[in-house]
Amino acid sequence: MAHVLSPRALELAQTLVRMNTVSARSNLELIDFARSHLEKLGVPSRLSYNADKTKANLFATLGEGKPAGVILSGHTDTVPWDGQDWSVDPLSATVQDWPGGGESDGPGADSGPRLYGRGAADMKSFIAIALANAHHFLESDAPFAVHLAFSYDEETGCFGVRELIADMREAGVKPMACIIGEPTSMVPAIAHKGVYRYQCCVRGKEAHSSLTPQSVNAIEMAARLVGKVRDMAEGFERDEPRFDGFAVPFSTASVGQFHGGIADNVVPRDAVFRYEFRDLPTADARAMQQQVLDHAAQLQAAMRKVSADTGIDFETICEVPSFLGSAGDAVTRLAQRLSGQSRTTLVAFGTEAGLFKQAGIPTVVCGPGSITQAHQPDEYVSLDQLARCEVFMRGLAAARSIG
Ligand SMILES: [Zn+2]
Repeated sequence: MAHVLSPRALELAQTLVRMNTVSARSNLELIDFARSHLEKLGVPSRLSYNADKTKANLFATLGEGKPAGVILSGHTDTVPWDGQDWSVDPLSATVQDWPGGGESDGPGADSGPRLYGRGAADMKSFIAIALANAHHFLESDAPFAVHLAFSYDEETGCFGVRELIADMREAGVKPMACIIGEPTSMVPAIAHKGVYRYQCCVRGKEAHSSLTPQSVNAIEMAARLVGKVRDMAEGFERDEPRFDGFAVPFSTASVGQFHGGIADNVVPRDAVFRYEFRDLPTADARAMQQQVLDHAAQLQAAMRKVSADTGIDFETICEVPSFLGSAGDAVTRLAQRLSGQSRTTLVAFGTEAGLFKQAGIPTVVCGPGSITQAHQPDEYVSLDQLARCEVFMRGLAAARSIG
């Protein structure tokens, strides 16, 4: 008989969805809730904060005294819903049957009741199920501890988890494995691309547009860099060795925003644009960015021959490394065993997995719900997916080894 989600887990998932933790806001309400939940079980939490202490990560060890074991990792922030067309209140945590009846409408979109709300799939339910089953981890005879790692500011560039990992190292905790509960429909995912985003500001020299030789046109210089990014994108598509399994099996580059100019008859002084690289796990995003920097250095040298005050500056928006695990990793086999899946998958979105991997912790991504429902209006996760996630966690509590 299929496992039915425990009422306690559903109630906790609803409680977390009802908290507004859009990345631009504080997440302390959720962190305080999780901390006091664990405190009642006698489990202390380590909090690591952002610079102005408006946001925190929580790290807790269930099984004090045991060797460090498996991290269950989730981010507490969500994307906003401004301008999206929702049929329910995004903070209502409404449970209702899919209006279409018993048919599924895509991968992970199981029939039956669903929990609707911002963060239902991405990824408060995973956090809630981990908390709801914390007592099972405490009572577990497993020869290793289970750790909860809840981060802030994942959606804006995986900023919080860097502090969490640093804090964990400072505490001398060296976990053997990490499971990131991003929505993969409970199929273990072992790779994703990186997301590297930059802003480029070009400062030219303005002039009346009849006097162009005395000016440096910021838009035109920026456009040459935009062209460079475009050329690189075409180069990836043409030349890069394919990585099978990704919908787009090569690295991509694109410009997302461009601003510049004030009037038709003024040579523009300023232009700003933002662009990104999504590099394959086998590619090197920093080398990609270096190509843009080299091109900019050449342009800048020419610009400065006209005016010494001109220049090109870059700012890093986010650098989320790609992730490449392995089907042979013990943590991948553990996730396969706990989820009852013999296969693994790749995902199209960035996660904190690359950062845990860089910290030397074998990592896999496996969580309830589908990414096709995340960030969307009427985001939901089926209770069936949540039940599968709970089976996974109960299995982890009963595990005697990793792998
Ligand atoms: Zn997420």
